[in-house]
Amino acid sequence: MISVQDGQERILAEITAPVPLEIVPIVHALGRVLGEDVRAPFDVPPADNSAVDGYAVSSADIPPKILATLAVIADLPAGAVFDGTVSAGNAIRIMTGAPMPRGADTVYPQEIVEREGDVVRIGPLEKGVNVRARGEDVQAGTVVIESGTCLRPQEIGLIASLGIWQVAVHGRPRVALLSTGDEVVEPGTPRAPGQIYDANRFALRGSIEQCGGEVIDLGIIPDLRDELRARLSEASRMADVVITSGGVSVGDYDLVKEVLGELGGIDFWQVKMQPGRPLAAGRIGPAQFFGLPGNPVASMLAFLLFVRPALWKLAGRRRLHAETFEATTVEPLRKKSGRREYKRGILAYRDGRWEVRTTGPQGSGILSSMVAGNCLIVLDEARGDVAAGEAVMVEPL
Ligand code: AMP
Ligand code: MG
Repeated sequence: MISVQDGQERILAEITAPVPLEIVPIVHALGRVLGEDVRAPFDVPPADNSAVDGYAVSSADIPPKILATLAVIADLPAGAVFDGTVSAGNAIRIMTGAPMPRGADTVYPQEIVEREGDVVRIGPLEKGVNVRARGEDVQAGTVVIESGTCLRPQEIGLIASLGIWQVAVHGRPRVALLSTGDEVVEPGTPRAPGQIYDANRFALRGSIEQCGGEVIDLGIIPDLRDELRARLSEASRMADVVITSGGVSVGDYDLVKEVLGELGGIDFWQVKMQPGRPLAAGRIGPAQFFGLPGNPVASMLAFLLFVRPALWKLAGRRRLHAETFEATTVEPLRKKSGRREYKRGILAYRDGRWEVRTTGPQGSGILSSMVAGNCLIVLDEARGDVAAGEAVMVEPL
């Protein structure tokens, strides 16, 4: 028996180098992991500019108490640059975003002035207002996005604002995915009595894609020794990671375990957790291998706990674990001490606090509990039964 944390650490220790970098256009970079720091090649904004539509003036012309009249000597739309200098007694009509003309340091919003023909009447105003300073967003030469960051739309927008159109990102880890079991059949085909449709390959496929992996779908392998061995070694040559589900539990009619044992380099763990106790992890040839449990909830959970950090590390990410938060359970929870338990929960904000309850029956085959839930309730090894009103940790799904 090993703890969740031990298992995670041993797996991560095996992964020493992330997938190599490739250059992609930013339009294809969403969800990819940046392989180099992005530095600003210039200040953003590149020049002092107006924050409002109005009139740019020199603060020397701001009247202390009464109204003053200035001559409007030019119209400056966004994108235009005023070549001259704003001298005493003059103002420039300016639009939001237009660079501040030389000689001007303050902008009157158009709402607070009176315009009459070629003159504008202004009152007292604080010096320097309504000007966005050069470099106030990003300064030239600074790192704006760190290597190892998974790119979201906002990072891509920021990169684009620097004039950069392609970036170095890590390749997607290739993940070969197989289901095992004589009873498991393909959705869309007829199902005989005693057979079940393959759920795991589809839930795991989505899980892999969500954490940036590229799936190589190798279908369902029947419980046949030679076929299992052949398909697993084939998979290990095609992919960075090989994932199977089923056939790793104790006391099973289990060829998977035997065949994996023969391939060598694979440990069979009983992880101190529920659901998802049995797990096989190690290497087949050049590939990292994970044999996940067959029960659908257990296989998804084992994926989240053990495979996702590994895929994230392979994909070059800096952060390898999901964030957890604290909530109050509104129902008592049964918990055996000595193992970590994950219950599917429904988290909601009520009466000024985050409250969580379970989705109902928690069997490791009840996949609908994952559908009903929006979080996992994480109960530590040391903990025993939990009373209603106690604080628990939750991990949003
Ligand atoms: P096993 O460890 O292979 O005995 O599987 C444990 C349980 O999970 C059994 O009830 C299997 O029928 C079920 N199971 C195994 N593989 C899948 C799968 N791909 N989709 C849905 N259920 C599965
Ligand atoms: Mg099986």
